[in-house]
Amino acid sequence: MSSAQPLDIHASVDALPGVGPAIAASLSRLGITTVIDLLDHVPMRYEHERAEATIADVEADLPGEDDAANISVRGEIAAIRSTPGRKPRIEATLEDDTGSIRLTWFNAPWLMRRIRPGSRLVVEGRASRWKGYLQLANPRWQFEEERDEAREDRLRPVYPASEDLPSTRIESLVTVALDLVLPEMVDPLPAELRHRRALPDIATAYDRIHRPSDPDAVAEARRRLAFDELLLLQLGVMMKRRHLRQTLHAAPLLLDDDVDRRIRERIPFTLTADQDRVCAEIAADLGSDRPMNRLLEGDVGSGKTAVAVYAMLLAAARGHQAALIAPTGILAEQHHASITRLLAGASVEVGLLTGSTPAAERRRIIERLAAGDLELLVGTHALLSEDVAFRSLGLSIIDEQHRFGVEQRSRLRRVDSAGRVPHLMVMTATPIPRTLSLTIFGDLDVSTIRERPPGRSATVTRVVPPARSDDVYGYLAERVKAGEQGFVVVPAIEESDAGLADVESHRRRLEQGALRDCRLAILHGRQSVRERESVMDAFRNREIDVLVATVVIEVGVDVPNATVMVVEHAERFGLAQLHQLRGRVGRGERRGVCAFIGEPATEDGRRRLEAIAESDDGFRIAELDLEIRGPGELFGARQSGTAPFRVADLVTDLDLLRIARTDASEWIQRDPTLLGPDATLLRGRLMATYGESLGLGDVG
Ligand code: ADP
Ligand code: MG
Repeated sequence: MSSAQPLDIHASVDALPGVGPAIAASLSRLGITTVIDLLDHVPMRYEHERAEATIADVEADLPGEDDAANISVRGEIAAIRSTPGRKPRIEATLEDDTGSIRLTWFNAPWLMRRIRPGSRLVVEGRASRWKGYLQLANPRWQFEEERDEAREDRLRPVYPASEDLPSTRIESLVTVALDLVLPEMVDPLPAELRHRRALPDIATAYDRIHRPSDPDAVAEARRRLAFDELLLLQLGVMMKRRHLRQTLHAAPLLLDDDVDRRIRERIPFTLTADQDRVCAEIAADLGSDRPMNRLLEGDVGSGKTAVAVYAMLLAAARGHQAALIAPTGILAEQHHASITRLLAGASVEVGLLTGSTPAAERRRIIERLAAGDLELLVGTHALLSEDVAFRSLGLSIIDEQHRFGVEQRSRLRRVDSAGRVPHLMVMTATPIPRTLSLTIFGDLDVSTIRERPPGRSATVTRVVPPARSDDVYGYLAERVKAGEQGFVVVPAIEESDAGLADVESHRRRLEQGALRDCRLAILHGRQSVRERESVMDAFRNREIDVLVATVVIEVGVDVPNATVMVVEHAERFGLAQLHQLRGRVGRGERRGVCAFIGEPATEDGRRRLEAIAESDDGFRIAELDLEIRGPGELFGARQSGTAPFRVADLVTDLDLLRIARTDASEWIQRDPTLLGPDATLLRGRLMATYGESLGLGDVG
């Protein structure tokens, strides 16, 4: 490749020989627009190289017109010519001692400059018969003298490809790009760091991931490329975090024994040891004038709300306001109801502000917030709107973290007239897998509740085929007769949803059948707030025995007398969602029972349901969910622009992630804005990758 000019890795792919507008368009559909994108388009797997055959052997193996086989042969180019036209083509004849074979390449005019009559090549591809000739279309090729004879079992990369751009074509493009780029490639990581972590240099890594000699080479290359991805995100997150810490201030909310005692008096039970520990972690953060930025995670029913109330009361005790923000109106109403109950008889008051708060009521709340005589507010995004101004918002709590992106979190960071931002806590009832909490939520400190409040026994879970759903409803009717309550969850609201049970018709069916002696009501997201509130109140007051609902009850519903959860078409729900639903029962003294009715069409689907039936560990389930669905969906990464990685695997690369985290943290301490000379390349990549999504523009 001596004649070639070195190429900038950020150059557009059409700077590569052989890439015209058509190929560039095909590449762009695969998300590849620059040379480095192409190098980052890593193989999804590898295949073993074919053993070489003579041309006569191949002839013998392919007697008929329709026969085809993957082959590898070696020989000398007898002739080569190019055919111009709409589809420019290069045709060559390759001969060995036993016969000849025709080679055809499309859209590769540069090959004329490289392959000459007399060149000795090893070629590989899918051989077929064409008008009696043996031919190979778009074969991969190598000069014989470049071929490493030791690579009998060389691995062939197999790329994510498309119809108009097969893997073999990508492979030859990558080969061209590697030859042009690697000799000049500068490593973004300092040599010292590479040596300390035993990572190959970047050029070696790219070479090995695309043209490995053996599986160990692949593993080594993967490790390096994954490390870079993980390090980059950590650097971005930490840089941002440090910036926030240094430039933002919050009102310190100091806890002392007296305040602690008064808060505890308000809470009608003794906090568990886990709740105590977490409250102390939070109080320590709140006491500082640096804004808290903390994730509170805990399985369903672990008692996070009580912890939130503790923190909110601390803010109120120090003369500040606190807001709790939920992702849906229903959840906000739930929180409002349970906090109001918790604080019955106290002097503090809790307001509710959602999208459906009537205008007059909304005006009154806004006035009271501005005057400071409403201390606590529960609501939805509605309370983030511009005209909602607190006199002194000391603490914001977001429930259900993963539905809020990084950006929404920063909107909560509105600076008040005193130049301060509120402390921030996010709570999630869906435990976030460790890997995710370290990466995408890497800017948050994490508190975890693992222990459940006393007096709970694990919920019994059964997966039941639809044919036996009568047994399930029979059991539910019995529990109702014994004074308990239950939920029936169906996937859709409307009948139109091809054959799925909808809320209203399913209620009618149950009312006329198995549950004819029970009082039923429906609950779904299209009801008005008033309707939903009155249904939930009636359910809580035991005027209703069974709620037939959509997943609106997934989070937050807290009715200890409800012991049975039935989920129809369970295969339609995500694992984490099923676990959430299960968490709605068994919240009181009596054991919860949960029936997932479903008939998964696939083996995979069946395994998923069994897995959740067997495990009651929300963390384990969240991890399973991650394995099955991939991280993208879990943290809504596509919207928030923080894309999952190309090489790093959040399920298997946990150890590497830890290392990258340590290194990123050391680096940021040494060079907080990455302006040092050893960080130039890395900083460029960081800005290109995460500058926008993490809002790094204003950092340093
Ligand atoms: P989460 O929000 O984590 O799902 P909640 O805060 O709603 O859990 O608590 C679940 C149930 O347990 C509620 O009924 C709550 O009143 C009760 N609870 C919480 N903490 C305790 C405790 N320390 N002792 C007894 N009951 C508790
Ligand atoms: Mg809750």
